Amino acid sequence: MNCNYCEWRCDLSQGEGICGRYILSDCRIEEKEPMQWVSYYYYQIEEMPFFHALPGATVLQTGTKGCNAHCNYCVNSHIAIKEESNQKLKAITGQSLAQLAINAGAHAVVFAINEVTVFLPSALEAAQAAHEAGLKTGCLTNGYLTEESTSLLGNAMDFINISLKSLADDFYQENLGLPSVKPILRNIKALSKMAHIEIVTPIVHEISCHEVLEIAHFIAEVDKNIPWHLFKLQPAYRRIGENSLDIGAMIEIVEQAKQILPYIYFGNFAGSKWVNTLCPGCRHMLIKRICIGSCGSKFSSIDMVDNCCPLCGQQIPIIR
Ligand code: SF4
Repeated sequence: MNCNYCEWRCDLSQGEGICGRYILSDCRIEEKEPMQWVSYYYYQIEEMPFFHALPGATVLQTGTKGCNAHCNYCVNSHIAIKEESNQKLKAITGQSLAQLAINAGAHAVVFAINEVTVFLPSALEAAQAAHEAGLKTGCLTNGYLTEESTSLLGNAMDFINISLKSLADDFYQENLGLPSVKPILRNIKALSKMAHIEIVTPIVHEISCHEVLEIAHFIAEVDKNIPWHLFKLQPAYRRIGENSLDIGAMIEIVEQAKQILPYIYFGNFAGSKWVNTLCPGCRHMLIKRICIGSCGSKFSSIDMVDNCCPLCGQQIPIIR
């Protein structure tokens, strides 16, 4: 019997699948540890990162363990990589997660520690409880879902951050252990019609720099208002210590990409000025952020009137 949550479509009658998070039980595919979470914590939404959703809001971040990919530079391998993770999970109901968020003044529950596909039924249940409590919901995903799972995810989440590492199948095969990027490109198009999406691309020195303009064109064809986060990856796991990105050269490429997409961000290096939202019409500073040591940033201030630039009046696509 094949699992239908992601494009691996593992035959679970043959044993544990790629992610190890689903089992066959009485001819049904079930999560191994439903509604159990590795941790929860409170962050600013910009740290996820989401830059065009609930600016400055606190969110409750949670997740489980495991992943359907096997990135050789994974920064979370102690949780995401099956062979590396011996994390204990804790049972918390969706209602309790929502209440924890409310108690902390958070505005959303975000599933962000590991790949949401490997705990999709729990994420859907917790998202429903969050919505019933008046909260918004979001998640991070590598996008390697089936069309059916993509539809479930898009209907359950208010905002989704999709990781697009490259446009090349061989990059995905060599670095993520995934056969093809094509399902991810398909799902980005589908999700863009169902929820607010932002795309994140870690830049792994020479491997994907040359693709920046091609990716910008792809995103613009889907919707040129999609925010795109580039960040300097600090490789970990099997590529720990590699660090050869030329920031100056990368900024020149990002400047070119800005002609294609109005909302491009580039961070995770000291002094980045590429984490602010400027009005595409008049360049007025709309949202000021401070670059921190991760792919996200900290919110600093906002200067908008009813989602419009206060100087030229241009409407800015931001969920409030
Ligand atoms: S979600 Fe896990 S078990 Fe299901 S197809 Fe994907 S990798 Fe296999």
